[in-house]
Amino acid sequence: ALPKVVIIGRPNVGKSTLFNRLVGKRIALVDDTPGVTRDRREGEADLSDLHFIAVDTAGLEEAGPETLSGRMRQQTEAALGDAAAALLVIDARAGLTPLDRHFADWMRGQKVPLVLVANKAEGSAADPGLYEAFELGLGESVAISAEHGVGMADLYEALAPHL
Ligand code: GDP
Ligand code: MG
Repeated sequence: ALPKVVIIGRPNVGKSTLFNRLVGKRIALVDDTPGVTRDRREGEADLSDLHFIAVDTAGLEEAGPETLSGRMRQQTEAALGDAAAALLVIDARAGLTPLDRHFADWMRGQKVPLVLVANKAEGSAADPGLYEAFELGLGESVAISAEHGVGMADLYEALAPHL
């Protein structure tokens, strides 16, 4: 079986855009178990010679602010079960939010290898966010633009050791 890579992070950081770039149109499975894995999408992904199942943890956008953290945790726990690695995505243009910090703190306690991905990093507007990302204590982030296809070689380098 192919290894699984789970894409996680707060809403609007570009998880689905990254998923779509990695998977293209070949979405293998839609799992919509109510309340837990709603809108979770899985698909066969290629990144150069790496082949894996990418998991987009979506559907959190519909949760209210008061339930967001709990739902996020629940859904992510379900997706992380048998994952080979997780990509924690932040928005380098927006900078860190409390939800990003909450997520990073929680992920530190998980056993799955974690790659910090700073998306929307095309252009200099992302520079402050890339520095700020160090505050998460997860090391240097991989700067990418999922929308423009920038940084995919760096993402490969970061992911390859775990697959
Ligand atoms: P998700 O909620 O984390 O799944 O985020 P989406 O993939 O739906 O993207 C949220 C918004 O960010 C959309 O308007 C995307 O077009 C935009 N976006 C995604 N990737 C990039 C990127 O690399 N650069 C920029 N500037 N915008 C992006
Ligand atoms: Mg999404």
